[in-house]
Amino acid sequence: MAKFVVAIDGGAGSGKSTTARELAKRLHFFYLDTGAMYRAITLKYLQRDGDKDNIDRGLVSEIIASTTIDLRLENSVTRVYLDEKDVTLEIRKPQVNDFVSQISAIPAVRKWMVEKQREVAKGKKVICEGRDIGTVVFPNAQVKIYVQADLEVRAQRRRKELSEKNIESNFNEVIKNLKFRDKYDSSRQHSPLKKAEDAIVVDTTKLTIEQEISFVEKIVRERL
Ligand code: C5P
Repeated sequence: MAKFVVAIDGGAGSGKSTTARELAKRLHFFYLDTGAMYRAITLKYLQRDGDKDNIDRGLVSEIIASTTIDLRLENSVTRVYLDEKDVTLEIRKPQVNDFVSQISAIPAVRKWMVEKQREVAKGKKVICEGRDIGTVVFPNAQVKIYVQADLEVRAQRRRKELSEKNIESNFNEVIKNLKFRDKYDSSRQHSPLKKAEDAIVVDTTKLTIEQEISFVEKIVRERL
């Protein structure tokens, strides 16, 4: 079991990563970015030339049986390793954005991820962000936050993040992808994106990053 869990869920580009990452630094918690894990598996499927119109379940099973994903903190930055190869930047590319929701909806993938995520969190104090953290992965989390923000604001933030990573993007394409993923993630049958009943909603549309972090930090400190 984890020692203390802060579950942060929300739609694509809602601001949860920024909050989770910075909060983990301030509180000396382990930062568990579950989206990065789903992205890594998706990248591998694409690298293996998996069919995109008709997902090859056999290939997916083969991949999850033989893949390692590691999140390592290096110089205060979490780096993502897929089979020991650093894919931190690659998993943010449009090809992955466009296909990650479809791979994430597969029950076998989710089962594997949830086991891994619980294993990583064992004995630790963690800030865990994703879509199903407060509802499925850690339903007994000590703090549950659900982050939301207006679509246009989310798209602007996402573009800024991408440009900081030197990844080019187009505003309309970003909007389209955020909308598509939210719809797909919320309507899938297994562990859809939804607010846990006992989660605190934080709307970050009009908040600065600092306001957003301080708000959540205060809640966590009170419960610690
Ligand atoms: O958080 P991020 O936007 O990087 O997540 C990428 C995708 O991974 C989401 O759109 C969703 O399809 C999937 N995901 C998920 N469950 C999680 C985290 C991410 O299904 N806990």
